[in-house]
Amino acid sequence: MAYTLKGETGEWEVVIGMEVHAQVTANSKLFSGASATFGAEPNTQVSMVDAAMPGMLPVLNKYCVEQAVRTGLGLNAAINTYSVFERKNYFYPDLPQGYQISQFLHPIVGKGVIEIDLPDGSTKEIGVTRLHLEQDAGKSLHDQHPTKSFVDLNRSGCALMEIVSEPDIRGPEEAAAYLSKLRMILRYLGTCDGNMEEGSMRADVNVSVRKFGAELGTRCEIKNVNSVKAVQQAIEYEARRQIEIIEGGGSIKQETRLWDPNKMETRSMRSKEEAHDYRYFPDPDLLPLELDPKWIAEIKATLPELPDQKKHRFMKDYGLPLYDATVLIAERSRADYYESAANSNDPKLIANWVLNELLALLNKDNKDITESPVKASQLGGLIALISDNTISGKIAKDVFAEMYATGQDAAHIVETKGLKQVTDTGAIEKVIDAVIAANPDNVAAYRSGKDKLFGFFVGQVLKETGGKANPGMVNDLLKKKLS
Ligand code: ADP
Ligand code: MG
Repeated sequence: MAYTLKGETGEWEVVIGMEVHAQVTANSKLFSGASATFGAEPNTQVSMVDAAMPGMLPVLNKYCVEQAVRTGLGLNAAINTYSVFERKNYFYPDLPQGYQISQFLHPIVGKGVIEIDLPDGSTKEIGVTRLHLEQDAGKSLHDQHPTKSFVDLNRSGCALMEIVSEPDIRGPEEAAAYLSKLRMILRYLGTCDGNMEEGSMRADVNVSVRKFGAELGTRCEIKNVNSVKAVQQAIEYEARRQIEIIEGGGSIKQETRLWDPNKMETRSMRSKEEAHDYRYFPDPDLLPLELDPKWIAEIKATLPELPDQKKHRFMKDYGLPLYDATVLIAERSRADYYESAANSNDPKLIANWVLNELLALLNKDNKDITESPVKASQLGGLIALISDNTISGKIAKDVFAEMYATGQDAAHIVETKGLKQVTDTGAIEKVIDAVIAANPDNVAAYRSGKDKLFGFFVGQVLKETGGKANPGMVNDLLKKKLS
């Protein structure tokens, strides 16, 4: 079902295109050997090149190029064997060169596609227009001193991929799904950590509105929105703002706006007339980049299985429903964990345990699945005990809590605590006889038609056996004895 916003004049369609900046996972910067890791003391990772000292020359980092190619392949995109680095000129205190080295007319990656998953279980394809490589700027710090601003150039020169989408996105939900899927793919590929809080992934969101079937409206670009939530809120606010202007008889001016998360509104930053003239031209210090198709093929051969492929394989190989598969593949480490546990056992049951029990505990402790006190093989061991009726599903929950707290194997806990399920018919019958003898009134009531009392008897028998009697057998035997 299409997303619409209702105005005074009827339904409006919200059209969105995104430009996502993703910091390339690499040890060093795009054109220098300085470290590109996050969180170091300010200005400790700045080479002469990053500080733009006179006479310094950029040297292209081959690994960053490889990461961009890998990303392009992961987005089902065309890799351009010929691309050009250009200077994008503007003045800003955190940009020592006075220009950013970027790509413009000839990006390294061309058209691709991302399949997004919508909450109702359907999917939709969003076109990728291009991906290009560029340098990041430094960071101005305005809150360190009452009268001075400082600059930290650690980020200056780090490699960014700018991934531009077609205006195929409709509404905040699709925008969120697009960002999540893109982030997931980048993390699977290992080309960007996707950490939005640390700024390694930031989105510029272009929003316009139109009546269904009309031509595209004029867009406004909201800069540097840094969480999925903020992207959704900014779209909602901005679309309503535009609808009100148009319905009030005005028209939308193309401009760049900022999202203010405190006031929950977008604000004008600069209009189209004030837009920079970047005076792009090919960087004379860098040759055009020509890629050998054989090298591209080598990179392609090392691509991991990507989220959508994994999702479909999980559904097919393990018989999982869409929801289970979607949650399990959301993180590569989660999918790996599931697969090691699911190897030899009931795969649907394992999925239930990972999704319901394990993830709940890990969430509560704010732990990643790689830090789980219960290893995949240990969870497999617990499920094996349920499958072969050694323990009941109910007891298994207690055993699991114990495993999580102590890191011990299920078999060990079951053995030392004497939790083995009672499947001995004679032993269960004895308990049933005792329960029947102790509750003559209830027995009479049940036999005269009060069916609901059956649950009472099951409860009594399980209680008498410390929860260890096999529930299926208890049911069958009780039915026989009470009838
Ligand atoms: P620029 O570089 O000036 O920002 P681009 O043509 O590269 O311009 O477009 C940037 C983004 O704007 C793309 O993601 C594109 O999909 C999106 N976009 C273009 N037209 C519209 C529109 N009418 N409504 C919403 N988004 C749009
Ligand atoms: Mg733009």
